[in-house]
Amino acid sequence: MSLVDLNIKQIHSGLKKKDFSAFEICQEYLGRIKSKDKEISSFITVDEEAALNKAKQADELIAKNSDIPFLFGVPCAIKDNMMVEGLKCSAGSKMLENYYSFYDATAVKKIKNENAIILGKTNLDEFAMGSSTENSFFGPTKNPVDLDRVSGGSSGGSAAAVSAKLSAFTLGSDTGGSIRLPASFCGAVGLKPTYGSVSRYGLIAFASSLDQIGPIARTVDDVKIVFDSIKGKDSLDSTSLDYKEDSFDFSVSELKIGVPKEYFVKGIDPEVEKAIKNAIKKYENMGAKIEEISLPHIKHSLACYYIICCSEASANMARYDGIRYGYSENQKSKNLLETYLYSRENGLGEEVKRRIMIGTYSLSSGYYDDYYLKAQKIRTLIVNDFKKAFEKVDLIFGPVSPFLPFRIGEKIEDPLSMYLVDMYTVSVNLAGLPALSLPCNDPGKLPIGLQIIGKPFEEGKILKAASFY
Ligand code: GLN
Repeated sequence: MSLVDLNIKQIHSGLKKKDFSAFEICQEYLGRIKSKDKEISSFITVDEEAALNKAKQADELIAKNSDIPFLFGVPCAIKDNMMVEGLKCSAGSKMLENYYSFYDATAVKKIKNENAIILGKTNLDEFAMGSSTENSFFGPTKNPVDLDRVSGGSSGGSAAAVSAKLSAFTLGSDTGGSIRLPASFCGAVGLKPTYGSVSRYGLIAFASSLDQIGPIARTVDDVKIVFDSIKGKDSLDSTSLDYKEDSFDFSVSELKIGVPKEYFVKGIDPEVEKAIKNAIKKYENMGAKIEEISLPHIKHSLACYYIICCSEASANMARYDGIRYGYSENQKSKNLLETYLYSRENGLGEEVKRRIMIGTYSLSSGYYDDYYLKAQKIRTLIVNDFKKAFEKVDLIFGPVSPFLPFRIGEKIEDPLSMYLVDMYTVSVNLAGLPALSLPCNDPGKLPIGLQIIGKPFEEGKILKAASFY
């Protein structure tokens, strides 16, 4: 057994017992990244020297005091749309190819405070817009389980790095499924927390009313450890909230699980349907009560999501103007307008430009009522659907994606079929709920994620329920 096989809990107890040093684990991970990541491409930046130095310092600290927090000395990686001081933060875009962060995102600061070791930054769809990581300026991240297939997106690099054991855990961001989908495709555990439970300070904004940072790791316990470290109110993000920890102590037979009848419709891959139904059956056999529920407006969630996320993105992307920072064509332009036009034309990719156009259109006078305003009303209906459902059940179970991890190139030319990949994930963001992707397919097969959705701030209940599996 190698050190990269250990989960966070095992690393923690091994470090305490001095079975190995933080330096040794760090070295082992860096060696593995060198040999394996050529074919997977999960990292954009590897920060070898700083990681080894930090690991050395961690060993000095633990020699003096072995009372260490859980993430102490644990090697991890951060999606390249979150600020890590001194490191490049590209957002997977040519626009920010040479942009260096001068501060830490709050979530990053929190894990640094525990002395986690940051190995580097992971690949993503440009500005987190996509479901396959094929929209990255740096090329796609391949699925470690089958290199011909996508890793999912947009946090594909973060999920692939965990799955290939190139990092003990990673941070991702989820606006419409970007933690859960790649976790599902790569066979990792990924948590999209309640909106407001983790500070978004230092996360490059895509759609601010939907974005959340969350953990991807190998086990449910590890995800909990990372979530506990990064959650909580932050004065630098006014949408973050105090997290009151409820203790969730229950047995599986006390669980009431809702399964929306709208989830198993035509178009879902039969292998996905079978795996999800088997997983639900397993809970039933363990004693949980399974109840069919209805989310009547869920069928509108994709349309609603793509209007809202594009509208917000069109506003958030306005700052990349070729003047303030990032890629600029001001040398070649004759005037300011040309600088704006050429910098954006050549600095941003196809999908990002498509979203800016959809969003600008939806927000423009004359169309605002028909698109943006209507989407907001539908958003409220979806929120209410979930509220009603949670009056009857504790948790909602279903698939993360209707598809198995698809082949690289299979959907990239057809944006609509790519958007369909998100049909089960986006409603959770629209309603601000927490949800987990839990691997549930047989080992040796392509990974499939079971999605467990909970009430706001009931991550603890989701994780406890997942631990029974
Ligand atoms: N796939 C979705 C999109 O392209 C979600 C992306 C995300 O969660 N960042 O918008």
